Amino acid sequence: MIKIKDIKFSVKKYEYKKPFHITNSVRTEAFNVEVELITSNGIISKAEASPSFRVCGENSDTVMSVADKARGVLAGKDIKRYGNVFNDLKSSVDSPSLKAALEFSILEALCKESGIKVWNFLGGVKKEIETDKTVVISNIKDMVLEAANIKKEGFKILKIKVGENVDKDIEIMAEIYKKTKGMKYIVDANTGYTPKQAVYFAKKLYSRGIDISVYEQPVDRNDIKGLRCVRFKSPYPVAADESVKTIDDAVNLIKKEACDFINIKIMKMGFSNALSIIQLARANDIKLMIGCMSESSLGIKQSVHLACGLGCFDFCDLDSHLLLNEKRNRGEFIQNKNIIKIC
Ligand code: MN
Repeated sequence: MIKIKDIKFSVKKYEYKKPFHITNSVRTEAFNVEVELITSNGIISKAEASPSFRVCGENSDTVMSVADKARGVLAGKDIKRYGNVFNDLKSSVDSPSLKAALEFSILEALCKESGIKVWNFLGGVKKEIETDKTVVISNIKDMVLEAANIKKEGFKILKIKVGENVDKDIEIMAEIYKKTKGMKYIVDANTGYTPKQAVYFAKKLYSRGIDISVYEQPVDRNDIKGLRCVRFKSPYPVAADESVKTIDDAVNLIKKEACDFINIKIMKMGFSNALSIIQLARANDIKLMIGCMSESSLGIKQSVHLACGLGCFDFCDLDSHLLLNEKRNRGEFIQNKNIIKIC
């Protein structure tokens, strides 16, 4: 038996290098909650919750407000029987980002005890992953410059935020394409378009010979019919992001054939529910990508272990730590341009 002895929580503030502007949202800083789990035999595991108010209606204050309850539920529990511990957590704490951090820290503590890493425990499928890097919404000149810089830095996959102005977005994509030929594109409208605008955007780009690898969340999160419509009328694979936070969401999207991809984010699902949604998607031939909120390197580590362990993600969008000012990398991984490898 390895009991959870204590859990410490603390809020950490990070500043974005540039304002993180996506559809209807600009952020200059992120407040994450760090978790330190200590076991009865002296194992310490650190993890991070990066709550998203826009997607899940939670922030560092709401996470901290349930921290004591989470500690109370988990104290004294045996991490060797982590399935029970996760169930207790699920039935008592409804913060997905906190669940992600706590579940990861429990798995990591158990793995430390066993002398393996979490990615090995999850399957050890891939030793390294490739991430994209994001161009946020700005004026055309700045977005094109940023895209060209990301290419120069050595990234092969570009994530481009659109969704506030469809005609401007089409022009931006055409200009970015000219400067970054050879790259793959993930385009994310963050719910910004109507279905009609979303199809218009895709058809215009297609007619200009621009390929998009993933067309992420073009329409409102609740408009599953609209998402399905875009999926069938656009030439590009469509991903659900804001539309999928729970296992029920995933079941519904799959039943309705509304998407080609599901964007897995542990901060909107929790770690163990993310695993369930991944299995559900794989069994139904839905493709997978993995994304992030505003995690620092400590939080990104959690998704890196998931992605390397399972090796099932066609695209990894794990770049938030690259967009934040951080003194040093605490993720115990090596970042070599676009490649992330666990140390
Ligand atoms: Mn997204």
